[in-house]
Amino acid sequence: MRTSVIAKRYLDYFANHGHMVVPSASLISPNPTTLFTIAGMVPFIPYLLGEQTPPSHRMASNQKCVRTLDIDEVGKTTRHGTFFQMLGNFSFGDYFKAEAIHYAWELLTTPQNKGGYGFDPETLWVTTYTDDEEARSLWRNEGMDPAHMQIMGMEDNFWTTGGPGPGGPCSEIYVDRGPQYGIEGGPAADESRYIEIWDLVFENYEVDNVKSKTDLHIVGELQHKNIDTGAGLERLAYLMQGKNNIYETDEVYPVIEAAERVSGRSYGDNEEDDVRFRVVADHVRSALMIMSDGVRPSNEGRGYVLRRLLRRSVRSMRTLGVQDEVLPDLLPVSKAAMAPSYPELNDRFKEISEVAYGEEDAFRRTLDNGTSILDVAVKKAKRVEDSTDGGVVSGQDAFTLHDTYGFPIELTLEMAAEQGVKVDEPKFRELMAEQKSRARADALKKRHNVDLSVYDDFKKTLTQPISFLGYTDFSSRSR
Ligand code: ATP
Repeated sequence: MRTSVIAKRYLDYFANHGHMVVPSASLISPNPTTLFTIAGMVPFIPYLLGEQTPPSHRMASNQKCVRTLDIDEVGKTTRHGTFFQMLGNFSFGDYFKAEAIHYAWELLTTPQNKGGYGFDPETLWVTTYTDDEEARSLWRNEGMDPAHMQIMGMEDNFWTTGGPGPGGPCSEIYVDRGPQYGIEGGPAADESRYIEIWDLVFENYEVDNVKSKTDLHIVGELQHKNIDTGAGLERLAYLMQGKNNIYETDEVYPVIEAAERVSGRSYGDNEEDDVRFRVVADHVRSALMIMSDGVRPSNEGRGYVLRRLLRRSVRSMRTLGVQDEVLPDLLPVSKAAMAPSYPELNDRFKEISEVAYGEEDAFRRTLDNGTSILDVAVKKAKRVEDSTDGGVVSGQDAFTLHDTYGFPIELTLEMAAEQGVKVDEPKFRELMAEQKSRARADALKKRHNVDLSVYDDFKKTLTQPISFLGYTDFSSRSR
């Protein structure tokens, strides 16, 4: 079943059960504390908190998500993408635990020829929160094998916003891939054999004094209880398509095939290269989707995340032996794989690709200038005799790479790590701080010893130049 069909089935199922289906919100998070939309519930937060009235008390969506926290897992685990799609069904003061559990079980276990996903109930496992006997009894009634239910504490199975407000236990659903993928014992024993596919959150408490996930105070029961669920579309797809991981599914794998053609190497030959192939496929797709929502490469915030994704794709292709430009061979393939689900990519692609290819050109120049300097620094680090940890690139070398050759510290760290050496990051930071204070002192001199840097933040908020009206508009101001 293609990924888009799996998504459609989910949305159809919940539409048939009275849910209003809404399109994905932008990847640019409406929540100012996070750069990207990291979960399906993010656009629904005002409804979950009771701040706004939802257009329907039952809603469902397939939300585009980006999680940079998972970037180091990409390609190494079977289940982490920087971009992924989260299916979700939500109840705002409407149905609660019994229905949420019933819907999940029914959709997962109904045979595929009857509109469901057709998972064998024997492969399904759940975790539940310590005190949540009700959830365990509901799962048992649905037909879940009691031996496949594991109890977890607050750290794993209790959700809060991180502050005072709604909170509640959750129940996570896992699929057992079988003994060839790891050890017996359920998700508590092995999260790479037992794959988490769906998290059901039962928001029934009001909490305060949330010092940490395990140190909070339950004030009482909420008057309006909510359901918030998130199912990983790519994870469902890889399990249902009989693949080994999310990168081999229909919306991602074509980029791996394109990378094979370009590099002349084969996916599946050795694990090191395979990780690189998966990183390329994941990052190219994430960059495409992030750009489609209007982000452009820059040195801060979302733009910097995008820049890193593009650069890591290019560098992974270099480690696969390709020195030439790669994005013109890869980006259109990712677009073709994603456009059936996101047709807006067709209209936006011309501009997106021009920006991406320009970014690759600039990065290739940076790499050409800095790589040989880094190599010398790494050799020097490896020569230091008493190094027990494979050597350390000096803070001064990392600083020169940054200052003269445009290598951001993350790039130096990554490239040094590939060669088995560390970087003296504290010294690098110290040198950066010194440079900053020198620059500030110079600026002060130029501005006749008046420190105007207090206006810097304000200046950034201006969308257009302001004119001085003191001479012409004095009368209106005096009133
Ligand atoms: P994990 O512990 O496996 O990283 P999680 O606990 O962070 O998952 P949730 O935050 O509960 O996951 O997200 C809900 C669902 O979204 C998960 O059950 C999973 O199916 C999917 N999901 C989460 N993170 C990713 C990711 N980086 N790539 C693909 N799917 C993901």
